Amino acid sequence: MTNTSALRIVWIYPDLLSTYGDQGNVLILKRRAELRGIPTEIVHVHSSDSVPEQGDIYLLGGGEDRPQILAAERLRADGGLARAAARGACVFAVCAGYQIIGETYGDDEANPLPGVGILDIRSGRGQTRAVGEIVADVDPALGVGRITGFENHQGRTAIGPSARPLSTTVRGIGNDDRTEGAYQGQVLGTYLHGPALPRNPQLADLLLRWRVGQVAPLAPSWGERLHDERLAAAMR
Ligand code: GLN
Repeated sequence: MTNTSALRIVWIYPDLLSTYGDQGNVLILKRRAELRGIPTEIVHVHSSDSVPEQGDIYLLGGGEDRPQILAAERLRADGGLARAAARGACVFAVCAGYQIIGETYGDDEANPLPGVGILDIRSGRGQTRAVGEIVADVDPALGVGRITGFENHQGRTAIGPSARPLSTTVRGIGNDDRTEGAYQGQVLGTYLHGPALPRNPQLADLLLRWRVGQVAPLAPSWGERLHDERLAAAMR
């Protein structure tokens, strides 16, 4: 990484974890930072690379069961993501990424496997696959409001005492106890694809606020229109 003043956005393992357009999360963060005059630097970290520790926001997407196991093994062996989180970096992880940053997650035969351990959650396997639109109200402490997304996962997640649920579900399965996602400090995980940040610009702005403090409001654009349109469709 070169530009020390830029907001460094690190996209972890695009070769293993990038389903349902999750790379859109990288693009929207960059766009919404730059609209506020905040320069950005995007770093793609493939699974054969080591994870740099000096990033600001680390993004992990969803993945199929086997790539998810490989990603977890490599992240644990590398240690860079855990060190970055210990330093206070922001982590935004989706679905498979959400499960593997926790303490344990279930493999494709429901055996528990160790995660990266930066979020106090434990995921197992459900009896059914959770597929469809989610609508959820984010913890009011985060000032995000109602979010929507698409879920497609077999895993189910229990939240431990050090983490808090990200939101309460209005539609959909999420963690399986009427909550969806979890956060602990600036480490946040969610089952929402879509991708989540373009569909929920206010969630993208939460990550930016965590890193740079208050950010100027932006004029509503296609992001807000997409959010409202998906919300109306999911509530029909
Ligand atoms: N393989 C995981 C599960 O089925 C995650 C799926 C995903 O990332 N969409 O629970």
